Amino acid sequence: MNIKFDLILPAAGGSMRYGENKLLLTMGGVGVIAKSVAAFCDVPGLNAVIVPVNADRADEIKVELSDVKVRVIYAKGGNTRCESVKNALKLVESEFVVIHDAARPFVSQALINNVLEKVITCGSAVPALAVSDSIRYVENGKIEDKTLSRENFYNVQTPQAYVTEKLKYAFSQADNYNFTDESALYAKYVTPPAIICGEPENKKITVPSDFFGINAKIGVGYDIHRLIYGRKLMLCGIEIASDFGALAHSDGDCALHAVTDALLSAVGETDIGTHFPDTNPKYDGADSALILRDALQLPSLKNIQINNLSLIIVLDKPKLSDYIPVMKIKLGNILGLRPEKISIAAKTSEKTAENTVSAYAAVTLI
Ligand code: MG
Repeated sequence: MNIKFDLILPAAGGSMRYGENKLLLTMGGVGVIAKSVAAFCDVPGLNAVIVPVNADRADEIKVELSDVKVRVIYAKGGNTRCESVKNALKLVESEFVVIHDAARPFVSQALINNVLEKVITCGSAVPALAVSDSIRYVENGKIEDKTLSRENFYNVQTPQAYVTEKLKYAFSQADNYNFTDESALYAKYVTPPAIICGEPENKKITVPSDFFGINAKIGVGYDIHRLIYGRKLMLCGIEIASDFGALAHSDGDCALHAVTDALLSAVGETDIGTHFPDTNPKYDGADSALILRDALQLPSLKNIQINNLSLIIVLDKPKLSDYIPVMKIKLGNILGLRPEKISIAAKTSEKTAENTVSAYAAVTLI
């Protein structure tokens, strides 16, 4: 596919339905708007990303997008979405223009490709989903006796793609900019745009409940080691002052082993023992952080984003509470996760397992 296009990502909205700036909310450390842009970064033919922003929000959006791999140009935000797109359109240099909601971070590469293929052949491309619920006409809180066929109704998504000159023409003809998206404007002033099949996962984050659980994966891990006099006791990569330490092939850090297993389980991998067997001399007496780092290099874990991690360590002696803050920092450094995303609780076995140390980990990925 040979196409040159610019991407417009309107980011001047007030997030009125959300309550705070949803574009800056993070998913595993990456902002919603940055994730929306990232979906397009490796698409061949992308010339630049044009982001209309309001002056009072420009700085925070610019910080959020400072690391993206493509050229970002900022435009003046308007009072409505269409007004913002109109301002951005003046900066478009390519033959084609794609407009994508900054709050739709889950757009797939397949959908982007389909949109680009369609615009080449049809001059426009709008992803849309058929309405599955019954459609009724309501007035004054009551359903009117009118027959509406749901076959004619679709939920319209982004990314939408157009021939730049034709969309510019539509904007030049418009007498108001209150259209909720470009497809309505294009239909009115140019021609009915072509639809393609949208994706249910390509959700627009509108209210807080939209944000939670989307694409989330959960993983659980557990590990236990026997305590032996005279060995080092390592937990979360921190040496704990103790006369007893874990008997193990590696350094016996059962907290890091449980975290590794939780991550492996979240992506459907087999456990730590099959990936990093104790017959491998590389891990003989090894710092378990090495095992965790190696696990993060597995293809299935390489590009994950951790939302949060909860860990419970069960040990009768010594008390671990003083170690927990530094454990969080150490674990956060290994995982690339802020310490506030990590919870560590220390429990005792109530003398039911005084000669063991064990750990339970749960992790969520988005
Ligand atoms: Mg272990």
